[in-house]
Amino acid sequence: MLRRFISEPLCLRMSPGRRQLRDSIAASWHRAACPLRLPVDRGARQWVGGLRSDPLNLIRLKPAEGVGMTCVTQMYFARQGVVTPQMQRVAEREELPVELVRDEVARGRLIIPANVNHLAKRLDPMGIGKVARVKINANIGNSAVESDIGQELDKLHNAVHYGADTVMDLSTGGDIDAIRQAILEASPVPIGTVPIYQAVTAVQMVEDLTEDDLLAMVEHQAQQGVDYVTVHCGILREYVGLALGRVTGIVSRGGSLHAYWMMHHNKQNPFYTHFDRILEIARRYDVTLSLGDALRPGSLADANDRAQFAELETLGELTERAWAKDVQVMIEGPGHIPMHLIEVNVRKEKEICHEAPFYTLGPLVTDIAPGYDHITSAIGAAMIGWYGADMLCYVTRKEHLGLPNAEEVREGVIAYKIAAHAADIARGRPGARDRDDALSRARFAFDWNEQFRLSLDPDRARELHDEALPAEYFKSAEFCAMCGPKFCSMHITREIERRFGETGTEKRETSSVEREAVPAD
Ligand code: SF4
Repeated sequence: MLRRFISEPLCLRMSPGRRQLRDSIAASWHRAACPLRLPVDRGARQWVGGLRSDPLNLIRLKPAEGVGMTCVTQMYFARQGVVTPQMQRVAEREELPVELVRDEVARGRLIIPANVNHLAKRLDPMGIGKVARVKINANIGNSAVESDIGQELDKLHNAVHYGADTVMDLSTGGDIDAIRQAILEASPVPIGTVPIYQAVTAVQMVEDLTEDDLLAMVEHQAQQGVDYVTVHCGILREYVGLALGRVTGIVSRGGSLHAYWMMHHNKQNPFYTHFDRILEIARRYDVTLSLGDALRPGSLADANDRAQFAELETLGELTERAWAKDVQVMIEGPGHIPMHLIEVNVRKEKEICHEAPFYTLGPLVTDIAPGYDHITSAIGAAMIGWYGADMLCYVTRKEHLGLPNAEEVREGVIAYKIAAHAADIARGRPGARDRDDALSRARFAFDWNEQFRLSLDPDRARELHDEALPAEYFKSAEFCAMCGPKFCSMHITREIERRFGETGTEKRETSSVEREAVPAD
């Protein structure tokens, strides 16, 4: 009965109104101005072999309403031996045996953030964990001084269009509910939030928040369809003092709010005290808990300190408690970490949190480049991904300076696609290098259009090439504007191959190299 229920395609039960809304959203995503026309998974094989997935033709889990079950999490089903449609989809996208996906979800090393109420819209399930490709998250959302729904949807589009695997809505101003609703309706990728942000906007002062207010906000966002929530359950009252002498104190917004609340009321963190109530909410909607790193370092000087690792110990304890209730969990990580201190972060997280997926912000490997922190952080992200982090939260060049716009979202996503992809290659994931090899072959064949198509950002690659050589004639030219025709080393190599072949025996046809002086190296 259970298996039949979760296998039933939701689209068969869709009301005409819902179907119309879904189709109109799909049409807007596939509008002509979008050259990629695919807002979902773009793994290496998919690009090499052509586009394969139809994001609208998915089998989905029924929403919680009317189900009558107290737990609908993917972990619960996996532990019952049930392969859900979402597990099947993840297996397909990751090119993994479906039983491996089920085993890993049951074990907690793979999560599928898929709120049943977002599945009822157009969520395309994805997985985060050891056996999956390294994923990236893009943060969007407004602030009290900037942005509106239209701008946030533009950011969402850029994020998903250029390859973000999940998106966090971190809105802190305006009509937060309306913005989140629009994002959830439009997004084919999981949406994460930090519920305390919205809770704070509803009161005059942080200290006015009650414990029930905080828990009610988690439930409210879960009911809306949020797929994962950052909850700063691990910052205990006794840890606050450890962070107060730091160079940059507590840099997590949620962490600083919790710390202030605890010190004002002289009480323990309500998300820790009432963790079981959060678990009940998570079980009801299948909201994945992203256990926040409230005490992450915000500067190299604070990296790997007592405050950071004290909180990590508590997150390990909470991971076990969540798993005991079949709730999916990932662990958030730093932050600002010099390169030589990155590896130990992964080792400790995997040991203390029992290999729960690790989701890191950067880390930034130097503090001296405001305006370029998509680069300082992508360096750290590539390294931490290589060492074993499972999802990388992007940082834009606007970090520390202001709210990123849609173009800065695009740059941040591309920087992190590079980091995640480089990590997949270094970790030896089968097929990870296929797209690199295909692009390199196209490069050596001077097939410029194919180079653009295989690029992470085809628009940018074409734009830069065409700055100097815009004519169609140059799309097969054996040079570009960097070296010019006479000094193009790949052209010269091809001429050598044309003349001498693989055996090294000279062929007699006259080449352009013979007609032109070969430059000294
Ligand atoms: S001209 Fe230089 S940069 Fe351009 S394709 Fe040839 S070798 Fe590469």
